Amino acid sequence: AKGQGKGRQVGYDPAMDQRTAALARLAADLRIALDTDQLYLLYQPIVSMPGGELFGVEALVRWTHPERGAVGPAVFIPAAERTGLIVPLGAWILEEACRQAVRWRHELGDAAPRTVTVNVSARQLREAGFAADVNAVLQRTGLPPHVLTVEVTETAVFDGGTALAELRAIAALGVKIALDDFGTGHSSLGLLRTCPADILKVDKSFVDDIVTGGHEAVVAAALIRICDGMNLRAVAEGVETADQAAELYRLGYRFAQGYHYARPLPADEIATYRPAAAEQ
Ligand code: C2E
Ligand code: CA
Ligand code: CA
Ligand code: CA
Repeated sequence: AKGQGKGRQVGYDPAMDQRTAALARLAADLRIALDTDQLYLLYQPIVSMPGGELFGVEALVRWTHPERGAVGPAVFIPAAERTGLIVPLGAWILEEACRQAVRWRHELGDAAPRTVTVNVSARQLREAGFAADVNAVLQRTGLPPHVLTVEVTETAVFDGGTALAELRAIAALGVKIALDDFGTGHSSLGLLRTCPADILKVDKSFVDDIVTGGHEAVVAAALIRICDGMNLRAVAEGVETADQAAELYRLGYRFAQGYHYARPLPADEIATYRPAAAEQ
């Protein structure tokens, strides 16, 4: 066995084998899920403040496993990334969201979400020809490029290699670029010089304690000024209370996303979304 012989060899680790087996099982199930309609998308409203009117939506993938029930994306997206399955999975998500965006435009006209945001993982962005794939989906679905927002994390862009070139090619199509979870990575501010970003998603961690006036509030206040100065749209993520919304508005934020406004919703409920109440 591997563990025998020279002591300096990498030892046998049963816990590691179990994790690998669990990952392999999850990946195999996910591959089946892709082919058998177990996956679907929800759409969380991105609203304008202070009124909470619908501005856009973010597509968030969901999986109903036949035995295990709902499996969260925080579990299966990392597994899909590690196994490479995120490439076909991500392609399906992108096409599904673009088709839905076209449907809303037909059904709702001016009331359709003005932007439909799709999360793209580092692994997808590194794939050669990703920008060409995005273009092909836009052609197939007939979605105008400016309606699509591709959302990536700072870490994904900083991955080196061809990620930044692909992102620039996507921006050149007229697609909007959003930087997700902004402020939680390592390269945040430097990235703004090289990356063709249109939107910053200010991470929930900076919104959570904003009312108590800790360091998070200072960061949130600084980020909105950077965004205004650089002509970037700031979207505050994870807004859960009216107090947070009011404070963000006071700081200058005009776009938000979070349970205070709406949870991720099935596509047909986007048509009937109405702001619960004005903030001010
Ligand atoms: P994310 O992109 O940062 O998405 C925001 C997450 O925060 C979503 O969780 C959303 O449901 C949740 N959220 C929104 N508002 C609030 C709030 O007010 N309070 C709290 N506590 N949470 C809120 P979800 O849908 O479970 O997704 C988790 C993560 O999984 C996402 O984080 C994203 O990184 C990944 N993910 C989800 N869908 C996709 C997808 O289609 N493609 C890729 N590549 N990743 C995805
Ligand atoms: Ca996101
Ligand atoms: Ca986020
Ligand atoms: Ca996040």
